[in-house]
Amino acid sequence: MITINENFLKLQASYLFSNIAKRVSSFQNNHPEIDIIKLGIGDVTKGLPKVCIDALHKAVDEMADDASFRGYGPEQGYAFLREAIATHDFQNRGADITADEIFISDGAKCDTGNFQELFDQDITVAIPDPVYPVYLDTNVMAGRTGNYQDGRYQNIVYMDSRKENDFTPQLPEERVDLIYLCFPNNPTGSTITRDELAEWVAYAKENKALILFDAAYESFISDASLPKSIFEIAGAREVAVEFRSFSKNAGFTGTRCAYTVVPKECRAFAGKGEKYLLHELWNRRQCTKFNGVSYPVQRAAEAVYSDEGQAQVTELIAYYLKNAALICEKMEALGYTYAGGANSPYIWVDGKMKSWDFFDMLLDKTGVVCTPGAGFGRCGEGFIRISAFNSYENVKNAMERIEKLL
Ligand code: PLP
Repeated sequence: MITINENFLKLQASYLFSNIAKRVSSFQNNHPEIDIIKLGIGDVTKGLPKVCIDALHKAVDEMADDASFRGYGPEQGYAFLREAIATHDFQNRGADITADEIFISDGAKCDTGNFQELFDQDITVAIPDPVYPVYLDTNVMAGRTGNYQDGRYQNIVYMDSRKENDFTPQLPEERVDLIYLCFPNNPTGSTITRDELAEWVAYAKENKALILFDAAYESFISDASLPKSIFEIAGAREVAVEFRSFSKNAGFTGTRCAYTVVPKECRAFAGKGEKYLLHELWNRRQCTKFNGVSYPVQRAAEAVYSDEGQAQVTELIAYYLKNAALICEKMEALGYTYAGGANSPYIWVDGKMKSWDFFDMLLDKTGVVCTPGAGFGRCGEGFIRISAFNSYENVKNAMERIEKLL
C-alpha cells in the first residue's frame, strides 16, 4: 500500500490569496464599472531592465550555434555570475564572501524552503510571526511540528513581531537551533540594525544554532547605516546562510534567478557534537536534486552588475520606493501608523480594526485591494499590507480613493 507523508495533512490550506481572489472577483462581478487597483500582491509590475533583455537576446543567439551552445551547466551556477555577485554584492561592501560560496538557483522560495532538509527532524525551529509562509510550511512538511491549534503549530517557537518591538523579533528565551530571519521583512517592511543583527550572530554562536537570513528585499535598503547582508557582521560566516533573489531588484519574478550563500566555515553538528560543513552538504544536495539555472537567464542576471545594469536597477527600485513614499505620506496624513515603506516595498498599516474588515471596507468602498495581515500569522491581526508594486498612476489613484473614504 502506498502511504502518504501525513505531515502534509497538518498543513493549513493557504486561504489568504485564494480568499482575496474570490472576494475581488465577486466585487468585480457586482461592480463591472469599477477599475480595481491591486496593491495586494508582492509581484513586480515593470518590465526587465534593458541590459537584461539585451543579455538574454545575445545568450539565446549563442544557444543557436554549435560553437557557442551550452548544455548542462555547473549545478552551482556559472563562474561569471558567481564572481560578479561575490565582488559587487559582498566584497565591495566589506563582506568576505568568495564566488565558490555562492550557489545560483531558480528562486529564493525554493532555497529557503529546501535548506531545512539538511537538518535533523528533532531540532527546535524559531520562526517570526507574521511570516513569509514558506519557512513554516516546509518545516511542517518535514515533520518538525505538531498539529495546528489556535492559529499556531505546536513545537515551533514563534517570534512575535509587534509594534512594541518595532516588528523586529527578539532573541528567544528558550534555546533554539534553527532561526529564520527576513530583512527587510515581508510582510512588515521592518529592517534590522547592525547591532541587533550582531546580537543574533552572538546568540547563534553561543547556542550552536544557525541563522537562515532571507535578504530577498535587500535592494530596497536606502539607509546606508543598515546592513544589506548578514555577512557584514563579524563572525556571521560560521553561523549564517543568506538567501538573495533577482526577483525584486531586477524584476525576475517570471524569469527566475536567485542565489544562496553558504560560507565555507558555516557549520552544523551530528548527534555526538561532531562538526560538519554545510557548504559540503548543500553542494551535495544541489548536485543531487538540481541541474542549474538556464544559461541565458544567468547571463541576464550577470548584466545587472554592469555599470548600466546598476543604473537601471537603481531606477527601478527608486520607482517603487516613490510609490511606497506616497502610500506612507497619505496613510500618515489620514492618522494611521505604519511600519516599512522607507527601505521596503511593503507598508504595514495598523488598520485599527480586524484585518479582513479593513480589507473588505477598502475593496467595497474604493475598489483597492490590499493584503489582510492576519493571513501572515496571528500577530498580523489588525494590520494590512499595502504593496508598492504597481504603476505610480495607479498608486496615486488608489490613494486618492482611500483619502475620500477615510
Ligand atoms: N523571500 C521572501 C521574503 C519573499 O517575499 C519572496 C517572494 O515574494 C521570496 C523569498 C521568493 O523569491 P523568489 O522569487 O526568488 O523565489
